Amino acid sequence: MNDLLIRNVRPFAGERTDLYIRNGRFCEDRPDGVVTEIDGIGHIALPGLVEAHTHLDKNLIGMDWFENRVGPTRNQRIIADRQAKRQLGIDARRQSARQILQTLALGVLHIRSHVDVDTEIGISNIEGVIEARNAFRDLVDVQIAAFPQSGMLIRHGTLELMEAALEAGADIVGGIDPASIDRDPVRHLDAIFALADRHGKPVDIHLHEPGELGAFCLELIAERTRALSMRGKVMVSHAYCLGMLDGARQQALIGLLAAEGIAIMTVGSPTAPALPLRAMREAGVVLASGSDGIQGTWEPWGSGDMLERAKYLAQRNGMTNDADLAEAARICTFGGAEGIALADHGLSVGCHGDVVLVPARTLAEAVALTPQQRTVIRRGRIVARDGVLSDELSHRRELGR
Ligand SMILES: [Zn+2]
Repeated sequence: MNDLLIRNVRPFAGERTDLYIRNGRFCEDRPDGVVTEIDGIGHIALPGLVEAHTHLDKNLIGMDWFENRVGPTRNQRIIADRQAKRQLGIDARRQSARQILQTLALGVLHIRSHVDVDTEIGISNIEGVIEARNAFRDLVDVQIAAFPQSGMLIRHGTLELMEAALEAGADIVGGIDPASIDRDPVRHLDAIFALADRHGKPVDIHLHEPGELGAFCLELIAERTRALSMRGKVMVSHAYCLGMLDGARQQALIGLLAAEGIAIMTVGSPTAPALPLRAMREAGVVLASGSDGIQGTWEPWGSGDMLERAKYLAQRNGMTNDADLAEAARICTFGGAEGIALADHGLSVGCHGDVVLVPARTLAEAVALTPQQRTVIRRGRIVARDGVLSDELSHRRELGR
């Protein structure tokens, strides 16, 4: 059961070898008895692609085209987003299933999704995404962050709903722009870190705040991470401020992030300053990436493919040589896995037998051309060939209807 021999592949574009999976995990030697074999014909073997930041409850995949008349500010977009939930009838369970199925065929096997909690919808979106998570549990890992998209302190009752979300099965405490949305960064961060501490959960904060304001919030986050011994359990998503500060200030913050073990998630946004990825990497900051919302009311584009995301990240950050493109691929696999604290992710003996075979000669080519004809293996089971989900999963498509 779930034993597999994968011949002739190149792990992370290294030397050709065979990979063995027994009982759903990589093993040293060929499993005994009758074993399913596949020929990797020299393709690159990547570990499961890691979507470290998306919003499964907000995509409009398979729904009518949303004519976007929304203004450019974050506040206008938050209001439009909240209206859309009511008016378009976005079913969080169904839409989550659609995105999971779409990206599973491309090798996204691990997803961290922020899911809205607010005083209009309560925790209904959390419950919907939990339903989808349960339905796909054998195929994809889904982590759920209870996310106060519309603000937390400014909307009385939201914090209590976030607590209810954790009790219902959310995994992570989310936060958003503690200064510019809640207008009280100390109280916002004290509240979410206290919630995380009480429930023994990690924290993941959307931080769009610019320049010194963002820097101040990062320092407050680092103080609380240290005080509560949450090294490795805190992620800051976006952290645009890191791309806006002068060299010395930037370097000091990078040092602080590295010292406190705080991971940074960046999507490579085309409209925000590029982050100093090289300096962050050299300092040992864990870097992850994600699609953020795809095909929604915020933005109309995005496929959720994390190899494509590696390309966007590289383009935004001026990464063009082969070593840099390989680094972008690493951020969307190993970096993401470390950032969202996945256990046993990778291609080593003992890790979960999750593999994405990509028809490319080098990692640079895989990122630049993002071939879709991938073979996806989950715990030793072939779930997609040439980018198409296997027939035995066809009944799962019902979940997206
Ligand atoms: Zn987001």
